[in-house]
Amino acid sequence: MVHDRAMARTSESVQALSIRRVWIAQGCIACGWCGDLLPGVFARSGQGLSQIAAAARKDCTTDANAESRSPLRAKLAGDEADFLAFVAAGCPPAVIQFD
Ligand code: SF4
Repeated sequence: MVHDRAMARTSESVQALSIRRVWIAQGCIACGWCGDLLPGVFARSGQGLSQIAAAARKDCTTDANAESRSPLRAKLAGDEADFLAFVAAGCPPAVIQFD
């Protein structure tokens, strides 16, 4: 029984990260970190605030994607998904959201 639970937990933890949608919640401080590291996903508004680039989105719109939550044109998996999670973890106000 304990062994079964341990095996289930192990298989959960090694499950590859897959990202379908990315958006920016309120509170971006325009530091530029995300756009510098992932310019194919993140764009900047005229005020320097982070947005999700039209080229990366199915709805071809550039904005924070917080309301429409458009999916990415291509789901991110493997190293790409891990890198986006790394970029999100480095966002000072932690406003980069994804699922
Ligand atoms: S890393 Fe965070 S605070 Fe900095 S520009 Fe990107 S979303 Fe804004």
